[in-house]
Amino acid sequence: MAGLREGSRKIGIVGTGMVGASFAYAMMQRSLATEMVLIDANRGRAEAEAMDLNHGLPFVRPMRIWAGDYSDLAGAAVTVVTAGAAQKPGETRLQLLERNAEIFRQIVPQIVENNPDGIILIASNPVDIMTYHTLQISGLPPQQVIGSGTILDTARFRYLLGDRYDVDPRSVHAYIVGEHGDSELALWSLANIAGVRLRDFRSSSGVGYDDAALQRIFEQTRDAAYTIIERKGATYYAIGLGLLTIVESILRDQHTVMTVSSLMTGQYGVSDICISLPTIVGAAGVEEVLNLSLSPEEEELFRKSAQTLKERYAQIANKG
Ligand code: NAD
Repeated sequence: MAGLREGSRKIGIVGTGMVGASFAYAMMQRSLATEMVLIDANRGRAEAEAMDLNHGLPFVRPMRIWAGDYSDLAGAAVTVVTAGAAQKPGETRLQLLERNAEIFRQIVPQIVENNPDGIILIASNPVDIMTYHTLQISGLPPQQVIGSGTILDTARFRYLLGDRYDVDPRSVHAYIVGEHGDSELALWSLANIAGVRLRDFRSSSGVGYDDAALQRIFEQTRDAAYTIIERKGATYYAIGLGLLTIVESILRDQHTVMTVSSLMTGQYGVSDICISLPTIVGAAGVEEVLNLSLSPEEEELFRKSAQTLKERYAQIANKG
């Protein structure tokens, strides 16, 4: 591990809506980068976000934040793409596909042209397909293209499990993998709290294993976005922090294990699609997709989830 990613502490953000701005706000408080360039089709929006963030600098540490163009991405270590249409109430992530696929055909070539060595981190939905789409459009090595994948779902899951067992969610080791969306799955066979299998864990208040309660936790995790979007229109704080965690692991070469989306090369029989599995993320981007022993049922669900994504990707594959 080589410390901070060599040569650059600049971060780019393409799409400064709710998610992009939440990430930027988290980023400026962590003092990880020295420069942050904000790009949006709505230039006024990017400028206003830059102003608002800059006015907070006296309360944190100095950095340069500005609304820029694609040429300003030169030398950025990571470009985070949060541009696109957000989910409408009741709309599935996959229904966003066509709208965002077209936006990416405009954005990605401009990022690569100006910053061929930087990592591209995608958050726009449907994130797995947009990540694969980016890989195809960009021609970049697979290591360099990462999707936020199920990082948010895993965080929601750990939070809810921590709440049930009354432990810090950071002590809960449990993953949501597969599609960031309706076909995702929980890796129950590996879930543990401080090394104790979930099945054997009993909280100090006596809460033990209960299949029905745990299934409800999974459903709440999977459906959280619908619940939040229905009530406040969008989700952004938690994904903003999730993106921060990925960027931090890249800039600091931390080798943190996270459920991000990346190119599959035969894992559990899946290849040629981006999807989430626990993955080591470091300065090079995707360092290694972990090979965990899943239950036969989990493997099957994972393959089905990948198949769902392949079918959706096929809908945009030959359109330009
Ligand atoms: P938003 O509408 O608030 O912001 C989107 C921004 O993208 C807008 O400012 C818009 O002007 C900009 N934009 C649109 N087309 C553009 C283009 N061609 N070039 C540059 N900028 C462009 O939406 P949001 O709530 O910030 O959500 C952004 C995306 O993130 C959505 O696709 C949403 O579904 C997704 N999202 C992902 C996760 C996750 O876990 N991966 C979580 C929440 C939201």
